[in-house]
Amino acid sequence: MKTIYNLPTYNKDNRLSIEELYNSYSKLEKKYWQKNKLNIQKINYRKHLYDYFLLTFKTKKTGKAIWLIAGMHGEEPAGPNAIAKNIDFINKLGKKIPVVLLPICNPLGYIKDWRYRYYEKAPKDIADVDIKSSGSSEHYLINHEDTRKPRRNKPVCKESELLTKFVLKNVKKYPPILVLDLHEDNCLSDSYIYSQGFLRHKDPIAKDIVNTLIKRKFKIKRTGYTRFKQKIVNGIVTNVRDGSIDELLSAYRIMVNKHVRRGPRAKSVVVVETNITRTPLKKRINAHTYILKKLKHFYTLGKKIKT
Ligand SMILES: [Zn+2]
Repeated sequence: MKTIYNLPTYNKDNRLSIEELYNSYSKLEKKYWQKNKLNIQKINYRKHLYDYFLLTFKTKKTGKAIWLIAGMHGEEPAGPNAIAKNIDFINKLGKKIPVVLLPICNPLGYIKDWRYRYYEKAPKDIADVDIKSSGSSEHYLINHEDTRKPRRNKPVCKESELLTKFVLKNVKKYPPILVLDLHEDNCLSDSYIYSQGFLRHKDPIAKDIVNTLIKRKFKIKRTGYTRFKQKIVNGIVTNVRDGSIDELLSAYRIMVNKHVRRGPRAKSVVVVETNITRTPLKKRINAHTYILKKLKHFYTLGKKIKT
């Protein structure tokens, strides 16, 4: 049986192939890390069947943890590539600090350079298609209009179902101190971040990440609005209810099988958005690398946050 490793990856920007990414992630030492496969389904690509799955990694060391997430949107390659580039560093980090790693959450989108699930031919406009984001968590999030219901009855796609189940299964053993979700943005002129934890603009980790990028000469969009019309203050967007896995990880209450349950309550949830259109991939990978290299420091900062 062929697997997604055998599918050709879009490579106009010299990103690592899907096989190279997974080979790199597999360097995490078995002594410290547990690797799991979330099986999705067989997919049919040009009349061949391929085994399609997501890989998840967590340290054998449990406890208050860093959750590192990347590749939720397929056309945002910097995060998965930066994790691959820094895999030895992450391996070492996992010896000291509990870490949950979801390094590429939409592999089929990645190989096709397409935001959501796989399409043989990408539609011209995102609005033309039924948006099926791997990170959608609305089936576990409480409906604003009717708080007895979730926002959506079922997961939007298999990836979303498996990833959100994985979150709920692991948050007790690995309570999230910091969730770092590496994204990119292809519409804005400069980079910015989201802070989804309860401290919002005052989150010390969010502020540190913005300062780190400024120090490294990355252009930050300090004020104005995102393309989704969200207000940016000092490079940070807060108070977002976007139904994402980040909202799920920061939620105080969630809904499981029609019952309200305690949410994961991550203290700090930061989503990085580096700009794709004006910055070459190599430089964007560097931006994500600078942030990854400070994870230990962020973990210490996060532990001090009083809830
Ligand atoms: Zn994204």
